[in-house]
Amino acid sequence: MASEADFSDLAVTETAVEITFRPTGDRLSFARFGTLLSPGHPISPPNFGPHPCWEVEWLARNLAQQALLRHGECAAGERRRTDKRRRTDTPPPAAPADEPVHVRLLHDLALAIAHNEFSLYYQPFCEVQTRAVVGQEALIRWNHPVRGAIEPTEFIPLAEGSGEIATIGRWVLDRALAEAATWNQPWRVAVNLSPIQFRQADLVEMVRATLDRHQLPGHRLELELTEGVLIDDTSRALNVLRALKQLGVAIALDDFGTGYSNLTYLRVLPIDRIKIDKSFVQDLGTSSQVDAIVRVIIGIGHALGLEVTAEGVETETQLEFLHAHGCAQVQGFLLGQPRPGPLRTSGAVE
Ligand code: C2E
Ligand code: CA
Ligand code: CA
Repeated sequence: MASEADFSDLAVTETAVEITFRPTGDRLSFARFGTLLSPGHPISPPNFGPHPCWEVEWLARNLAQQALLRHGECAAGERRRTDKRRRTDTPPPAAPADEPVHVRLLHDLALAIAHNEFSLYYQPFCEVQTRAVVGQEALIRWNHPVRGAIEPTEFIPLAEGSGEIATIGRWVLDRALAEAATWNQPWRVAVNLSPIQFRQADLVEMVRATLDRHQLPGHRLELELTEGVLIDDTSRALNVLRALKQLGVAIALDDFGTGYSNLTYLRVLPIDRIKIDKSFVQDLGTSSQVDAIVRVIIGIGHALGLEVTAEGVETETQLEFLHAHGCAQVQGFLLGQPRPGPLRTSGAVE
């Protein structure tokens, strides 16, 4: 196991924290409270001998976070929440004088499962042609006892930074499969996987055991990944994805179009679906370039035999565009908002 002594001193820059893993010279750079930006060299398990690479990354991330805390940094989300509170005249909770608010939040995050503060909301995804619901995406919610609802875009990066995401991710998978097993429709349940989870050595075994525990066939589960996990180590990703597919689990590439959108992954990796990022869908009709990008992504999907889902569909005009260009599946507020239990029919059905 790597230890803190294996890492160099941290360099805190305007936008990132950088650290070197001494045994291999790998340089890792982390966004503030966020994800791994880029290792200096590709991180691969052989570089780290017996240490699975995610353990090294996890440790480095912890050190990066501690450095930020020492520097008195405050997560952007915390500032936004404070602003919101000011607007609603709710008095901000008193942070202990000796503990910064974000340290407190990290501490609370570690206790949130035991305190029953997480829940799952479900948002349907639907066939464009019939508007029938074909599946439900599980989206985590944190109801903090003092701060109220905290958005996943704020606490997931924090959980990734502290390593807590492993426990939270296990909880999400377990809860989503337990709930899906009670549905009286054979909908697929889509679960988001953090890159850190994807790198865990026991991921496939955990998925297998959770499916077994809830007696759910693998084809009822779809895992949503972002392409960052594929870039770091494509050969490992290939093995993991193949093992997941052997369980019958479907794989979706989330937020497609926002990253590198490297077509090699789509060709070599066993991916079933791409999800067009909502930022494109929401700009449909406002720019000919965006319209062209969406048409091209749908075309690429078809050419490679992949299913295509457009997310963030809010208007009938967007839906019509997607239908006209052959996108088979959609998700968005028009069809159904995330809610505590699954929506049986899409909101767009009269
Ligand atoms: P995502 O996976 O891309 O999920 C879609 C997000 O877009 C959700 O936000 C959803 O509420 C929102 N959304 C859906 N339809 C529309 C629409 O028509 N318009 C607009 N403006 N937004 C729409 P949410 O629930 O806040 O989740 C945000 C992100 O947090 C997710 O993005 C995902 O990356 C992450 N996340 C959520 N739950 C989990 C989880 O259990 N595990 C992990 N690792 N990440 C999660
Ligand atoms: Ca998703
Ligand atoms: Ca997405």
